Amino acid sequence: PLMLGPALPRYVRVNTLKTSMDDVLTYFKRQGYTYLGKARSIKELIDFGQKSGKSFLQDLHIPNLLVFPPSTDFHKDSLYTAGHLILQDKASCLPALLLDPPVGSCVIDACAAPGNKTSHLAAIVQNKGKIFAFDLDTKRLATMSTLLLRAGVTCQELANQDFLTVSPCDPKYQKVSHILVDPSCSGSGMPDRMRVLTEESGSDQDERLQALSAFQRRAVSHALRFPSVQYVVYSTCSIHQQEDEDVVKDILEQHPDFRYVHILSLWYTAIMLWR
Ligand code: SAM
Repeated sequence: PLMLGPALPRYVRVNTLKTSMDDVLTYFKRQGYTYLGKARSIKELIDFGQKSGKSFLQDLHIPNLLVFPPSTDFHKDSLYTAGHLILQDKASCLPALLLDPPVGSCVIDACAAPGNKTSHLAAIVQNKGKIFAFDLDTKRLATMSTLLLRAGVTCQELANQDFLTVSPCDPKYQKVSHILVDPSCSGSGMPDRMRVLTEESGSDQDERLQALSAFQRRAVSHALRFPSVQYVVYSTCSIHQQEDEDVVKDILEQHPDFRYVHILSLWYTAIMLWR
């Protein structure tokens, strides 16, 4: 059986590397959309999931994020194809926003493909400084190159490499102060993948979760070994405690020089560790 919730609105991030919120608002108004201003409550956002037609809002929490009815299709929109708009769910905008690297800083995106969060990080650092982005999967990395090119990202250095083998001692990474770890996870918190837990047998699921959370532990621990790192954001799209809170608890026991803030318990586990 499937667990079905209300449809989510269509979220669109305005790519400030290529355009501005004002220009995008003007564009959509000219296309016949009604701009309803900034959302005033979470309920208003949730209710937007039931809407249809040509109207849109600005998100309540995330800067440069617009909210459209779920049926709105942007794939042929000229602003989308030119990389001015990024189709990115609200939850997926939180990690880069919370990491918030200063303009010009050195950042690692440890598990980066297909690169929506990398492009968001690049917008936050205004394409200045450096983003070292790693991924194991060649195909996903190729998709990522295309996405970053379209988004006008120029401060990245991509590597088809296991993040766990990236040496924290390499002089190249000596100035890395901010790291995003968005590792492979069960995806159990994704609306289209939310299955009732009975779909997989208990032991299969336990084994899978154990393997995923073991990798997540290794990846976050590895991030904390970089000599200048100050902030690490670890994010998953899982609702399993084994992948989220348990990982953080273990890591903090192993790394007493880091502390954490549980910033938003809403929808998504976004945990920031800092020294
Ligand atoms: N951050 C991406 C984004 O916002 O578009 C999504 C990342 S996805 C959740 C996890 C990624 O981690 C996958 O692309 C996977 O190939 C990659 N991955 C898995 N193990 C890895 C490893 N050891 N080193 C680097 N990347 C890895």
